[in-house]
Amino acid sequence: MMKILLTTPPLTQLNTPYPATAYLTGFLSRKGIDVVQSDLGIELINRMFCESFIETIFAVPTQKLSANARKIYANHLAYAETIDVAMNFLRGADSSLATRICNTDFLPRAGRFDQLADMEWAFGTMGFTDQARHLVTLYIEDLTDYIREAFSPHFSLNRYAEHLSLYAPCFTQLEKELKQPLNIVDELMLNIFDETIKSNSPSLVGFSIPFPGNLYGALRCGQFLKANYPHIKIVWGGGYVSTELRQLSDARVFDYVDYITLDDGEPSILKLISFLENKITENELHKTLFKDASANVKMAGMQSTYHIPFDETAWPSYKGLPLDKYLSMTEVANPMHKLWSDGRWNKLTLAHGCYWAKCAFCDTSLPYISEYEPLTASAIADRMEDVIKQTGCSGFHFVDEAAPPKILRELSLEIIHRRLAVSWWTNIRFEKAFTKDLCALMAKAGCIAVSGGIEVASDRLLLLMNKGVTVEQATLSATGFTESGIMVHAYLMYGFPTQTVPETIDALETIRQMFEQGLIQSAFWHRYAMTIHSPSGKEPSLFGARCLYSQVNSFANNEIPFTDGRETDFDSLGDGLRKATYNYMHGLGFDWSLQKWFEKKMPKPGISPNYIRNLLIKNGW
Ligand code: SF4
Repeated sequence: MMKILLTTPPLTQLNTPYPATAYLTGFLSRKGIDVVQSDLGIELINRMFCESFIETIFAVPTQKLSANARKIYANHLAYAETIDVAMNFLRGADSSLATRICNTDFLPRAGRFDQLADMEWAFGTMGFTDQARHLVTLYIEDLTDYIREAFSPHFSLNRYAEHLSLYAPCFTQLEKELKQPLNIVDELMLNIFDETIKSNSPSLVGFSIPFPGNLYGALRCGQFLKANYPHIKIVWGGGYVSTELRQLSDARVFDYVDYITLDDGEPSILKLISFLENKITENELHKTLFKDASANVKMAGMQSTYHIPFDETAWPSYKGLPLDKYLSMTEVANPMHKLWSDGRWNKLTLAHGCYWAKCAFCDTSLPYISEYEPLTASAIADRMEDVIKQTGCSGFHFVDEAAPPKILRELSLEIIHRRLAVSWWTNIRFEKAFTKDLCALMAKAGCIAVSGGIEVASDRLLLLMNKGVTVEQATLSATGFTESGIMVHAYLMYGFPTQTVPETIDALETIRQMFEQGLIQSAFWHRYAMTIHSPSGKEPSLFGARCLYSQVNSFANNEIPFTDGRETDFDSLGDGLRKATYNYMHGLGFDWSLQKWFEKKMPKPGISPNYIRNLLIKNGW
């Protein structure tokens, strides 16, 4: 019988496990398959940020360090003395340290603390523990800067070598990097991985690669397995490979992996196990790429209709994950924003896919969006009760792309009926189904926060991109949530085809007013990217754009360069948008002219300074 090890290669978020291996482990173990899981990323971080590793790096002679790195080195004894207690604090194992961290110069400080003077006012709204978490986060980031500068240019706290995998049309650069000698972080990662292999003796290792920042780790581990354990088969799956590697044709990648599975992992891995046990032929594999006997990349089962109901797959098992090693960090002094890095949220999904699946910028042609399949409220509540028992944690992050309001209503009633004392947050669309009553019901059932797209915050562009939401509707939904005590985060976007500078300035003014009215607590601007799986990437002309080229790359395929025939300088606009919004998130700068956030001359807003207020009055708020 096969033994399977599922692992998340470095690095993703550090506060809670990425859920893919937990879902797959739950599914396979219920099928009676021998499966174990590990989180190589969190193990690596815990082994890096400890006294012995810190002493090791400071004992290595380095040359030509920057002034900041020299400052860190000058304090190397203080770092080595404090790192274990600081990490214990982030792991939640010793909260008694908070006061000392806040009130004394207990932690050494370098470049990351330079921003602190500007932020000290923000600590007034946060408790001691949050303040201390923020200070320890800066201290860890200082050490991270040192490691990156002195030893591993690829290393950052929640992604590893991401820059090598972002926009990687061909494999050559990655392969070149993989031929370089191991750096100190690679060595530690592979030592931990080797221990995991030795203690589990798997015959198949599955790497979940959700983001570009996990690819390099998977490749290095694959290289290690091929050199040291050539009998072990390797399979990749996850969001990054399912999105970007669908058209892979470069067989060199298969020096590091044997099989690449696309879309939902469950049907693919079941078929792969059957194939490796000689029960089916390779042609019967499900949505799987591999290198055939002629050394060409072959795709099998791309049209396969094999389907496993979501109800059967969506029940995670956390067995084997080191739940006491995750770190609660606070990067930004904002209570909504910190949810992403602070707290060991259990991740669950209410439905497979998106019930809307129409937004022009979204990968709506991929099954993880297009194939909608909800769970019942009672099935979700059953899973919540089971996961609380497994993890001892009552907080949930429902990681749906857009949680359906109907399910949220039924789930809220079910949670209240079962008297579950839980807290939860999720992504939503700001749509009219989120009435005052539904928001109040969700709050009563433990909802503490929602995030959703207001995107370009312009009615013309929201219509063009088929968001199905207007600025007025988003304002009313956000009001319903905040009036019920639910925090709101807005995903914002700039650079959509045909978007003008005045529209972008009006969008910022709209967001400024929403912050000022207390309707949103946090927001982030993303630059629009035209992707091959989105409606705008499939038919750019419908959106006023034209592709600059459309060749198929041999490695990753995702973003398409395009033009809308305008010369809008969205780079400098983006800097100003982010600067303004960062300040609004901290309650600052509402009375500043928008021009102050931009280096270039900008038009004045074309909307009334009371635009949002008037919408609220008009709708009886
Ligand atoms: S952007 Fe969100 S709401 Fe729109 S289709 Fe994608 S997942 Fe659904």
